[in-house]
Amino acid sequence: MQLCEKCLPSDWWGALEGDESPTTSLPCLSHGEHPTVKSSSLASRLEELLSMYRATLEGDPVGDVLVRDWGFPDANIASTLVADCFPDRRIEPSTKVDLLTSNEALDMWQTLKDELRTRNRFFATRVLDLELIRDAIENQENVIKSGQKLYRGRLALPGVRRRAKEMAAPPAGKAAAGRANPDGISYLYLGDSKDTCIGEVRASIADEVAIAEFKTIADLHIVDLSFVDGVQFCTADSPSRSILAVHLLRKLSYELSLPVRRSSGYVDQQYSYLPTQFLCEYIKSLGYHGVRYPSALNPGGTNLVLFEHDLTRINNRTMRHYRVSALSPKTELVP
Ligand SMILES: [Zn+2]
Repeated sequence: MQLCEKCLPSDWWGALEGDESPTTSLPCLSHGEHPTVKSSSLASRLEELLSMYRATLEGDPVGDVLVRDWGFPDANIASTLVADCFPDRRIEPSTKVDLLTSNEALDMWQTLKDELRTRNRFFATRVLDLELIRDAIENQENVIKSGQKLYRGRLALPGVRRRAKEMAAPPAGKAAAGRANPDGISYLYLGDSKDTCIGEVRASIADEVAIAEFKTIADLHIVDLSFVDGVQFCTADSPSRSILAVHLLRKLSYELSLPVRRSSGYVDQQYSYLPTQFLCEYIKSLGYHGVRYPSALNPGGTNLVLFEHDLTRINNRTMRHYRVSALSPKTELVP
């Protein structure tokens, strides 16, 4: 197969030189473009990359992993590349793989949780290499422009109108511990839409929800974990360390998005939030205004937690109350 610039991550295309240099003789069959490179000439590079993975039934198909972790534009083209580069079929397009260090990322998370819970609450740097994740955090920097609309929802008693000032973040000292904020430190949690807010407050049928509209009044520099990018294999100083950091950030994003379990007690919840609180505090210490993360309760939606209250203004006139009239619960089998 011949691959054009559109078939490969930009760092792979940029790194082609010598015998690998793209030629104009044959077009790419996927995009019809010149110049192209023969897929098998990328074999040694791909082999080096895939040496960071092991085959496991719990993993994901290798083409999907190349897209997710290394920025390949298309899983099908990546799969064909694998087939061309491994004619001995050591790795096939259908092979499921997982990062060799994925357990290391999970172990780091658990160790951090144990350390924060039972040994060191404020200086847990012994168990987590913050330098490791700092670059990955900075890669996810994004700017929310001044004037952007965001929303906050709170459950309301039937027939009782909430006032706009009740929709602001709780006063300092009175904030209960949340996914991002430690007990007593008040952050403002906002959703990207009314539907995200209604999902996030766990409203059931016939519940009433007050929704307030906020507007950002400054450009906000945030860490955007709604999608955590892969690593540029050809330009990273240490691809294996960088991808480990990316997996840790994805774990942070996942943990931030998890719905609060109603059945777990308040104390349990407080402890389970410690790693996310610790990392959000670290992100705050780097000078960011907040963190965006996916909404598990409104798939496709995002939440934003802001560390300061004076970055947005509430629009009193747009305050509305809604009654939930239908739900579309999704289920998954409990293993
Ligand atoms: Zn192409």
